[in-house]
Amino acid sequence: MTEVDVPASHPRSESLRRRHRIEAGVEAGITSRQGLIAQGRGEAFDYLLGERTIPSADAAERAAAAHLLRADHAVLSVNGNVAALAPAETVELADATGAALEVNLFDRTDERVAHIADHLRDHGAEAVLGAGADDRVPGIDHERATVDADGIGSADVVLVPLEDGDRAEALAEMGTTPLVVDLNPLSRSARAAAVPIVDNLVRALPNVTAHARELGEASDAELDGIVEDFDARDALDAAEAAIRSGDE
Ligand code: ATP
Ligand code: MG
Repeated sequence: MTEVDVPASHPRSESLRRRHRIEAGVEAGITSRQGLIAQGRGEAFDYLLGERTIPSADAAERAAAAHLLRADHAVLSVNGNVAALAPAETVELADATGAALEVNLFDRTDERVAHIADHLRDHGAEAVLGAGADDRVPGIDHERATVDADGIGSADVVLVPLEDGDRAEALAEMGTTPLVVDLNPLSRSARAAAVPIVDNLVRALPNVTAHARELGEASDAELDGIVEDFDARDALDAAEAAIRSGDE
């Protein structure tokens, strides 16, 4: 079944289309097979959240926008699921905030890095980092430690969607502010984040972009205020409560 074959009337058509995008990503050499498992976990949490952006996630998306706008050197980290699910939305967020794009993979191969970079360029990206691989995040012993010295290696703020907890923690450890998109409020990545966004990536990225555009003229003091008013713990608690109760 191709993307266009899912009838819009199907009650789960959106979810099926996303599933298909991940499948196509695996076939195109963009997404790893592990990515299929991550997608399934994400779907389960999204179902429990009611497949909507809850108010605490919207507040996190606004705080993430403020972080990206006031950063000196912000980077959006892109893995195989992000590239398959939301390539155009990722490029748009980079445009709206001036953040750099860097491919960073758990199952890193040079070929997959190149495929993803090409895919992002097909969706309008200009520079895509990640092939340089000339630096490492200390404290991680797998391939996700490999980064570009002029990208994540020297960033002050990094958006790490669908991340494993190790790296979000290691980034925080090296003084980088990690912003995480993860539908599971109990995951280590969400817990290690300065800003945990408990929302589906496909809703989160456009909403961070919308907030960034809206805050485009905001003063530094206003951005600082948004960052300071945000409480990561409260956001995680609100997301967990929404999942458990089915209410906001
Ligand atoms: P840790 O607990 O250390 O953070 P993990 O076991 O959660 O690691 P993965 O399985 O790689 O590591 O994580 C994938 C995460 O991404 C899961 O929590 C899943 O809910 C989330 N996820 C998957 N798809 C999406 C999506 N489209 N949007 C947001 N989150 C997603
Ligand atoms: Mg996780």
